[in-house]
Amino acid sequence: MLLELLYRFQEMERKEEELEKSLKALPQFKELKRIKERFNQSKKKLETTKEVHANISRRLKKAEHQVSGLEDNQKELSRLLYAGTIKNSKELENIEQQINILSEQISRISDEIIIMMDEKESVEKELSELELELKKEYQKFNKLKLQYNQVKLNLEQEMKSIEEDKKKLLLELDNKTLTWYKENKEKFKGTPVAKVMENHACSGCRTIIPITIVKEARTFPGSIYCEKCSRILYAPEIK
Ligand SMILES: [Zn+2]
Repeated sequence: MLLELLYRFQEMERKEEELEKSLKALPQFKELKRIKERFNQSKKKLETTKEVHANISRRLKKAEHQVSGLEDNQKELSRLLYAGTIKNSKELENIEQQINILSEQISRISDEIIIMMDEKESVEKELSELELELKKEYQKFNKLKLQYNQVKLNLEQEMKSIEEDKKKLLLELDNKTLTWYKENKEKFKGTPVAKVMENHACSGCRTIIPITIVKEARTFPGSIYCEKCSRILYAPEIK
């Protein structure tokens, strides 16, 4: 078994998986998602506020129209009062009463108009604040996206170069070794081959391997396993 090559292959795959993980866990990626969520929420709020604004504007316009109609009526009645065409006091009283009623109506609607105008003003303020917020979030998003793309590009280039190295190594590895690796990869969480480190620790479980076993692993590569974690032991010669 070509243990040294296999170990290198395994480490490449491990590195590749790590890069993939870190690509997904990039802080910019998470922040981008958060900003996007906030952006969508603000956008929804903006739409609702716009509707509220349109509604108030409509009501306001209607009330103003009503007032102007009532004022026209009032003017017409006043004109009658002074036109000298009134025949008796009953008619006079009647017209005066109508004018008073109109005055009361105008005053009531005018009060409503003042309230609506205040409301409209505060909704307009809210609208411009929301629009500003959206603009800021959009700018922040774009800036972060640029950063993210750069980091992503670097990671992807690194992954691509590992992919190429892997392809080269695959040409050197025999089928038997590869089949064994694939069959055992999952069982050992991606690392079925453990390297005996310089301090004789198993790279898979960190247990110190007895010197006799280390020597055996050097002499019979591919047939000696870590007693603790059962990984196959790759023990490079000390140079
Ligand atoms: Zn071990």
